[in-house]
Amino acid sequence: MTIDYDPEWGTATRGVRAGTLRSPEGEHSSAIHMTSSFVFESAEACAARFAGEDPGNIYSRFTNPTVDAFCQRLAAMEGGECCVATGSGMAAILATCLATLQSGDHIVAAHTLFGSTIGLFNNYLGKLGIRTTFVAPDDLDAWQAAIGPDTRMLFVETPSNPLTEVVDLAGLAALANANNARLVVDNCFCTPALQRPLEHGAHIVIHSATKYLDGQGRALGGAVVGDAETVGDQVFRFLRTCGPSMSPFNAWIFYKSLETLEIRMRAHCESATRLAQWLETQPGIDHVYYPGLSSHAQHELATRQQPGGFGGIVAFDVAGGREAAFKLINATQMLSITANLGDTRTTIVHPASTTHARISAEDRARAGIGEGLVRVSVGLENIDDIIADLWRGLSG
Ligand SMILES: *Cc1c(COP(=O)(O)O)cnc(C)c1O
Repeated sequence: MTIDYDPEWGTATRGVRAGTLRSPEGEHSSAIHMTSSFVFESAEACAARFAGEDPGNIYSRFTNPTVDAFCQRLAAMEGGECCVATGSGMAAILATCLATLQSGDHIVAAHTLFGSTIGLFNNYLGKLGIRTTFVAPDDLDAWQAAIGPDTRMLFVETPSNPLTEVVDLAGLAALANANNARLVVDNCFCTPALQRPLEHGAHIVIHSATKYLDGQGRALGGAVVGDAETVGDQVFRFLRTCGPSMSPFNAWIFYKSLETLEIRMRAHCESATRLAQWLETQPGIDHVYYPGLSSHAQHELATRQQPGGFGGIVAFDVAGGREAAFKLINATQMLSITANLGDTRTTIVHPASTTHARISAEDRARAGIGEGLVRVSVGLENIDDIIADLWRGLSG
């Protein structure tokens, strides 16, 4: 991958300017290369390309200019050497695990991971002989204790979903390095606009581009960012052979959306902070979970680790359990009742009966996901309108 950006550039500039793709037509906004294959001047040129003697495009399962432009831009924003794009966030996780692990290897992961990630580890990696141990995300001693001689991967999301627990990435990276394992961070909640895990020692960053990278709820996609050997070679070869590829059209959507990522994330953070502060003053609310609040257990760590902001996800416990939580959700008129997040539209959900319904009631209780817990993904509407809608729910 060629570096086409100034290393002095900030994240917003990289999002607008890195990975520029321009054809001889001179278009200012990059074109979409909707083609499955590429043609050659001669049989010799074709042979040279296939032999790897002449770099360039062959087939869009693994080489496409629009997908490559998205990859270069995202790699520049995360500060990584290489990026591989996939058809979804889950495909990015699958590709990373199958490309870098083998039967007998062991993963230590946060028990608060996205539900399908837990399912992938338990059901599909499990049957290939790759075991996973799940631990409390913010307890470094628990991570240490779970690591064994076969541990090759530590996997985490920070802040966690839905309770926004913040994990010390530098601490986990040190544990990974001391044990010949890779630290893999699913950076979906923060995006590189807020947090760049590679700068804290993480080895691989994973994205569900479906969430904030698109940010407008339109397309599914994923990405893996890291060093040239692990991502540029191992993960890339998995993509080339196994084919969980990103469509050029979706790549173009994400590529253009990266241009506004920093400014959108700033707005999400500003409104989420306002909402969290307001919720803390409301009588019907028992507790508010948001890393930007000084009442948050890891507020100091979050301030250091997420220099761009505290994120767009706010969770809170409603007094009165499930009944009160459902009543509040149903009384809102503008907010979208959906489990999706990272959209321009504010979404509201009851985790215990949706995103976390498949885990047992005891496990939920241990993880602190109560019946009164509500999660809001704060969108880009005026914050006063978001608060007014929730006020309707709280007072009704
Ligand atoms: C949505 C999500 C995923 C999965 O991404 P898809 O694009 O839906 O496959 C993975 N991790 C996190 C944290 C997510 O929110």
